[in-house]
Amino acid sequence: MVCKVCGEKAQVELRGRGLALCKAHYLDWFVKETERAIRRHRMLTPGERVLVAVSGGKDSLALWDVLHRLGYQAVGLHIQLGIGAYSERSLEVTQAFARERGLELLVVDLREAYGFGVPELAELSGRVACSACGLSKRYILNQVAVEEGFRAVATGHNLDDEAAVLFGNLLNPQEDALARQGPVLPERPGLAARVKPFYRFSEREVLSYTLLRGIRYLHEECPNAKGAKSLLYKEALNRVEAEMPGAKLRFLEGFLERIQPHLQAPGEVPLSQCQRCGYPTTGAVCAFCRMWDAVYRRGKKRRLLPEEAQFHPQATPVRAG
Ligand SMILES: [Zn+2]
Ligand SMILES: [Zn+2]
Repeated sequence: MVCKVCGEKAQVELRGRGLALCKAHYLDWFVKETERAIRRHRMLTPGERVLVAVSGGKDSLALWDVLHRLGYQAVGLHIQLGIGAYSERSLEVTQAFARERGLELLVVDLREAYGFGVPELAELSGRVACSACGLSKRYILNQVAVEEGFRAVATGHNLDDEAAVLFGNLLNPQEDALARQGPVLPERPGLAARVKPFYRFSEREVLSYTLLRGIRYLHEECPNAKGAKSLLYKEALNRVEAEMPGAKLRFLEGFLERIQPHLQAPGEVPLSQCQRCGYPTTGAVCAFCRMWDAVYRRGKKRRLLPEEAQFHPQATPVRAG
């Protein structure tokens, strides 16, 4: 198997794409493919300042690397979730990446900002950990983007992630969710745009890039992820992919290009300002503030918080890189 570009021994074979490439040409191809995806969906404008959500995993660090190479002013935001040693190592690896490359990193520590990390938050909110965590990440990411003047936020979601979400939304059909899924969520007042430049790369393709680039990332998965439905969906799709190379990409792109346009576009849900924090919400008080209000009530009842403790929605990021 030889590289399609130079004829040297290939390092990566992309069966789904009928492509094999050597290390140098794979790194090249990967960066150019990202640029193509960004341009095709007008995710970012050249040189734009973009906030990159970085967990310390392979996808988000590779994304930060590629966006920086492509000339975007890519600033990282790491949210310290307080999930034991896993979260500590996530922060360390992210800081090391930023330091070595001289990149700007912002950090929000959930426990410092609001009093509790994900484990206590899950217990006191009555939500499962992943739901409390997901809500916190989405909110904080957007809040920091808006406060720091970023138009757009980029996340490292890859093809496997997106195909799994689509698969899940088809198994439990919800027209709204199906109509909304996509590589770009446009900005609205108080809401930064959300872009996913890696949405056409399989997890394996991103991992190959991360390894060939020599990026140090955190291998370990979040301990809460075990048993998540998304893992089951990924496994099922990967079994199909193994027999039918390219199936995942055809599934997602076919849906986005041919099915989604026929779905009832969800009318712009009217948004109002949260009475607590001022950020957009469909109700009177946003889900994030409601969650923390409940957590503070229960925290006081269990004497984990002093009676006078007050929840402040605003988190100020610390510059750490
Ligand atoms: Zn080559
Ligand atoms: Zn709020």
